[in-house]
Amino acid sequence: MERNNDFKYFVEQFEDIRVLRYQLPGFESLTLQQKKLIYYLSQAALSGRDIIWDQNFRYNMLIRKTLEAILDHFSGDKEPAEYKAFLVYAKKVFFANGIHHHYSNDKLKPGFTGSYFATLIEGIDRNCLPLAAGQTVEEFISLLTGVMYDEKLFGRKVEQRAGADMVAESAVNFYENVNQKEVEDFYAGKTDPQDPHTVSIGLNSKVSKKEGKIIEEVYRSGGLYGPVIDQIIIWLEKAIIASDSEMQRKEIGLLIDFYRTGNLKVWNDYNVLWVQDNEPEVDYNNGFIETYSDPLGMKATWESIVNYTDIEASRRTKIIAANSQWFEDNSPTQPQYKKEKVTGVAAKVINIAILGGDCYPVSPLGINLPNANWIRKEIGSKSVSLANITNAYDITSQGNGFLEEFTADQSEVDRIKKYGPLAEALHTDLHECVGHASGKLAEGTDPNALKNYASPLEEARADLFALYFMMDKKLLDLGLLPREDAAKASYDTYLRNGLLTQIVRIKPGKDIEEAHMRDRSAISHWVYEKGREENVVELFRKDNKRYVKINDYFRLRNLFGDLLKEIQRIKSEGDYEAGKNLIENYGVKVDPELHAEILERYKKLNLAPFTGFINPNLIPVYNQKGDITDVKVEYPNDFLSQMMDYGRKYSFL
Ligand code: ZN
Repeated sequence: MERNNDFKYFVEQFEDIRVLRYQLPGFESLTLQQKKLIYYLSQAALSGRDIIWDQNFRYNMLIRKTLEAILDHFSGDKEPAEYKAFLVYAKKVFFANGIHHHYSNDKLKPGFTGSYFATLIEGIDRNCLPLAAGQTVEEFISLLTGVMYDEKLFGRKVEQRAGADMVAESAVNFYENVNQKEVEDFYAGKTDPQDPHTVSIGLNSKVSKKEGKIIEEVYRSGGLYGPVIDQIIIWLEKAIIASDSEMQRKEIGLLIDFYRTGNLKVWNDYNVLWVQDNEPEVDYNNGFIETYSDPLGMKATWESIVNYTDIEASRRTKIIAANSQWFEDNSPTQPQYKKEKVTGVAAKVINIAILGGDCYPVSPLGINLPNANWIRKEIGSKSVSLANITNAYDITSQGNGFLEEFTADQSEVDRIKKYGPLAEALHTDLHECVGHASGKLAEGTDPNALKNYASPLEEARADLFALYFMMDKKLLDLGLLPREDAAKASYDTYLRNGLLTQIVRIKPGKDIEEAHMRDRSAISHWVYEKGREENVVELFRKDNKRYVKINDYFRLRNLFGDLLKEIQRIKSEGDYEAGKNLIENYGVKVDPELHAEILERYKKLNLAPFTGFINPNLIPVYNQKGDITDVKVEYPNDFLSQMMDYGRKYSFL
């Protein structure tokens, strides 16, 4: 819906990084009140940016301000290779929100010398530099080059190697001048394991030693990051006024209380309300949420996203959920293993309107929060998939040569380009909304009977449910697919992935271990073998490269149906041996010769393994009285310019 097909997603690629843009489909049709709410929440999301920079490493803000100063003011020769290397380094630092790689955690290596860096700094007015009081430019340069170039200093953002002092050896700024034991002693006994509604102790603070004393500084208004948090609060207060939901207003009020006090009990109260507010058209995350960057798994990085419901995708999942009994009754499984009454789940699909903090520029693909276990168990959790972000990935992966390299037939490529994204989305909807929800166990079957094979088998069951119905006329009748051909794109993609390309993620000599990968491998190899006599699916060579070809889509559909029937039986009866054989024989092993070929072909495509995004700009339109009358969306197209823009507008530390 209102998705512009000529939209330019790809922005640029440098080293192992690719930058994309994402679209805001249907944004224009939101109400003014919803647009205003999104705008205020997005300003809150962007205002917290400095926090993640400082959390990642205590010199990151200083380095960022220096890079910004050079980019803004250096007027010397910009042609030399060293300046170009400086630009790449700057982009990598902006991408990682600091000088450590966002994924590997290693300190980024500048591709230019320390003396060239000194030349750049000396080439600009000293008043533009973030010098400390009384600091000379020489002292400043020596400090920065030490931090950036000395291999013995701050080498890893997070160090979890066995035997390491994870606190002292990690550069992440949750701790300073303390070791692991001191931190563990500091928190020992502070939580009551008996308290069922425990707070996430240490979530929002920094621990350091000053004058021999261990102190904890809490992130709050008037405390650590106070100036940034005050800005976040200003925008959240406006968001309260813009929201038309009593519950949402109350919940944002609690979030503000939390930012004012740093009180983790209030954070719990906030999350309890937020998770119950299940169906807002406009929703958000904002706070200290994920603890992946703390080697001790206690302290959370600051993040925020703002999102709105994808009307089109949610229309799809509603139709599927409303017809879930029809799907159940017409599935090829045995009657005794069907549910008499099945309730489909209308999974929520959202579009991201802004990414902020630790979610920018690298976005998650799905969100499942809150993290506190007792809230998840007693109240629930929200789980959503991010339609426009996934869409950007899908579309750009079509233009990167991958599809062409692994598909022999041009008409197949064209069909996937035309129908692939819709077919994939529909596959996911069927998988989530009815696949997992279908079927029942026989009387007396132990639900844990399939043990370690339970998850790949369960994923295979949901996938097969989707694959089987993808070719059904019912989808055309329900208006979910425009024509039968579209379903073929789904079958082509599925088998190419399961038989050939998904193993690019596996290292040579290793088995397939991840549940979804085992599921796809098992299904693909099983239908290939069972259809072999009739040549339903063909593996063939051309110019010494292997390809997949489906010769009979309808026969293939029946094979998917046969396997669905068998896997439902295995689950319903808890037939561990049969389940084990299926996964072990078809889902685990990789043919080493094929593997080498696929990896070689993939390498030649020179694809960047890490992807991040530029945010759209949300621009309010005011009338003469100063009221917002509309919010317009612009899509900037330069990564570095957006970073510089954010540095000017949202820097409070
Ligand atoms: Zn699943």
